[in-house]
Amino acid sequence: MDKNAKIFVTGHRGMVGSALVRRLQQGGYTSVITAGRAELDLLDQAAVHAFLAEHRPDYIFIAAAKVGGIQANNIYRADFLYQNLMIEANLIHGAHLAGVQRLMFLGSSCIYPKLAPQPLKEDSLLTGPLEPTNEPYAIAKIAGIKLCESYNRQYGRQYVSAMPTNLYGPNDNYDLQSSHVLPALIRKAHEAKQRGDGELVVWGTGTPLREFLYVDDLADACVYLMEAGTDDVLTNIGVGEDVTIRQLAELVCEVVGFPGKLVFDTGKPDGTPRKLMDVSLLASRGWRARTGLREGVALAYADFRARVNATTP
Ligand code: GDP
Repeated sequence: MDKNAKIFVTGHRGMVGSALVRRLQQGGYTSVITAGRAELDLLDQAAVHAFLAEHRPDYIFIAAAKVGGIQANNIYRADFLYQNLMIEANLIHGAHLAGVQRLMFLGSSCIYPKLAPQPLKEDSLLTGPLEPTNEPYAIAKIAGIKLCESYNRQYGRQYVSAMPTNLYGPNDNYDLQSSHVLPALIRKAHEAKQRGDGELVVWGTGTPLREFLYVDDLADACVYLMEAGTDDVLTNIGVGEDVTIRQLAELVCEVVGFPGKLVFDTGKPDGTPRKLMDVSLLASRGWRARTGLREGVALAYADFRARVNATTP
């Protein structure tokens, strides 16, 4: 990528988009384009097409999406399916109309079948039924992957998809109802410590396995692939190692300094038993994650505390 290339990052206020903007700026890219929600509603096809026709970016990263944890995905099923389909259809078709040649679409590891062999390889896509709690989101993301692939096949575009594992880091969502597990545990442990509670409630049985990638590592991988120029329609981005939810909760409690006991609320869903990424394709391209889980949780906790302090007078 030319350092003066026009690079449009959608979703720049979110955790992933903001990490991409940080990474691009650190990499010396001078023309990063962003658009806030008030300026551009990504659900509005005409507005998206007009914006792309006006700015004609050289590259687009689609980090905008309706995202959330297990509970939000399970409850707001229509919103997750409809909004994600619209955002990606408007952006991908709009990019094609505006002559954008290179685009990266971001999804998540939940696109793979619930019982696909672990670690999850890119070619497991569409080989079996999905995990029911996030099926609408996954269907939308699979449609996005296929849109990219189809524009490449029919029109010779270079639209690729990157599927990150569970992410965490600065600008995460810490709302206990809609967040993912890692930010939820950071907040619960912090608040339990402050209140002097003896217990912390963890959803589910604590036995599911999850892999966690620090978001700055994800941004680095995306920029790396875009710079290198990949022909792979789909690339997994992860660390290649996972932990149980119990182990994760214990680690978060250590980092936060909460000495209490874990209590498991089995009334809450476990979700898929395991979703470890096979990252051999990415490794063969020469990229590897740098931030270890303990280090990343400490960085995320520092970010969380800075926000709490910023909002408490
Ligand atoms: P998933 O990876 O799509 O299943 O999404 P989550 O990150 O929301 O949940 C991962 C696992 O962590 C599930 O087994 C949850 O039940 C479990 N979990 C434990 N405590 C929490 C919590 O406080 N919030 C969330 N979101 N998940 C939790």
